[in-house]
Amino acid sequence: MRFDRGLQWRHLHVSGALALKVGCCALLALIWARFEPLDSAVDVTEHSVASTLSLADAPQAAQASLAGTAIEVIVRRNDTLDRIFRQLELSLGDLATLRALPDLRATIDRLHPGEALTFFRDGAGRLLGLERQLSESERLTIARDDAGFRSHITENPLEHEVRTASATITSSLFEAARAAGISDQTAIAIADVFAWDIDFVLDVRDGDRFVVTYEQLSQDGEYLRDGALLAVKFVNQGHEYRAVRYVDAQGTARYFTPDGRSLKKAFLRAPLEFTRVSSRFNPNRKHPVLNRIRAHRGVDYAAPTGTPVRAAGDGRVRFRGVKGGYGNVVELSHASGVVTVYGHLSRFARQLRTGERVAQGEVIAYVGQSGLATGPHLHYEYRLNGAYKDPQKVKLPDSAPLPQALLADFRAQTAPLLAGLDAPAPGATPALAATPALAAR
Ligand SMILES: [Zn+2]
Repeated sequence: MRFDRGLQWRHLHVSGALALKVGCCALLALIWARFEPLDSAVDVTEHSVASTLSLADAPQAAQASLAGTAIEVIVRRNDTLDRIFRQLELSLGDLATLRALPDLRATIDRLHPGEALTFFRDGAGRLLGLERQLSESERLTIARDDAGFRSHITENPLEHEVRTASATITSSLFEAARAAGISDQTAIAIADVFAWDIDFVLDVRDGDRFVVTYEQLSQDGEYLRDGALLAVKFVNQGHEYRAVRYVDAQGTARYFTPDGRSLKKAFLRAPLEFTRVSSRFNPNRKHPVLNRIRAHRGVDYAAPTGTPVRAAGDGRVRFRGVKGGYGNVVELSHASGVVTVYGHLSRFARQLRTGERVAQGEVIAYVGQSGLATGPHLHYEYRLNGAYKDPQKVKLPDSAPLPQALLADFRAQTAPLLAGLDAPAPGATPALAATPALAAR
C-alpha cells in the first residue's frame, strides 16, 4: 500500500528475523501491523518481515541475517539517495560504502520518480540491506555481511510468445479485437501502423477483417502484456493492406509493406486532432472577417484553443512569429519544395526556434484565434514550389523506402511473418480457435 504525504509512515516495532539469501526469487511474506501517522517528507511504508527465507540453492552466497524492518520508500521527484538516507536516519557512511562497491554507483543512484525502494533496517536503525527493481526482469539486492555489503542482481527474463489471431469487425476495431482476445494495446498498434491508409473512425465498415501476428510477454508463466506487433493484414472495404515489422542492424524497428515501401507518408494529412473542418480550401471564398471575396488558400480545422499542432512532416522552422492576418504563425520548409503553414496560433511550443529541425508529429504550437479569426481554429496551408495546394486532396509524397541494400535482409526477416498472415496456425491458442473469422476461413 502507498500513502500520500502526510499520512504515510507506518510504524511497527521491530520483530521477526529474516535470514536473507540473495539470489532467490522467493517472495517475502509481509504482515502489516499497527499504524501511526508521522510527518515525513518521503513516501514511506514500513512493515515487519515475518517470514524466514532460507534457500539452499542460492547461486551466490551473499547472505546476511537481518533482524529487521522493511521500509518501502516511493521515490518522489528530486529525491536523491542522500536525501532518503537522511530522512530514514540511515548512515551516510553506509551510503558511501555502497557507492564504492564495484559497478554499484550507476545502478543505485539513478532514481526514477514513482519507483519503490525497500530498505531493511535493524532495531538500532542500522541499514541491513536494500532491494530495488532495476527493470521488469532484474532485481538488485544489497545485503550487509561481515565484510561490508554485497550486491547481487537476480534475473527473471520475460518470455516472448508469438501469437497469430484474426477477427471480423461488426462494430469497431476494438470490440473485434477484444472478442478475439487481442488487447487494446495491439488494436492501437494496428491503427497506428495503418494511420496513413485507413481512417479507423470514418473508413472502417462491418465485415472488414484482419489477421495479426504479435508478441505476448509473460513472466513466471503469467501473462504480462502484449509486445511488438510483428505483421498485420487488414481488409478494409475489400481493399487489402499489409504491414510487417522490420528491425535493421541498428535495432530500429519500422513497418513496411511486403515490398519494402514505408507505411508512413512524408506528411500527416491533418496536423492536429480536429473537431471538424470549418472552412475548406476555396479560391472564391467570401472572407468572414473582411466580408469580401478572398481566396481561402488553406484548410481551417476548428479545435479548442490550446489543442496541440504537430509538424506535418520532417522539416525546418523557416518562420515563427506574427504575420498580418495569420496572427501567430509557424512556417516549416520540407524536402522537395514543400512548405507548410500553421496560422492563428495561441502560442508556440517553448523550444521552437527559427532554423531548427522538427520531426513529423512533433508539437510545434497550439491552436488559437490570433490574427483575422472569428473563433479558435488552425489555418493550415500546403505549398508546393510556391503554389497553394488543397491540404485535404494533395497527393502526399511517400516516406523514403527501404534502401536497396537492405532488401535481401528484409525479405529473409519478414517472409515467415507474412506467410503466417495467410495461414494462421489453427488452434494455436484457445482464443484463436474460438475466433469466428478463422473458422470461416
Ligand atoms: Zn483559414
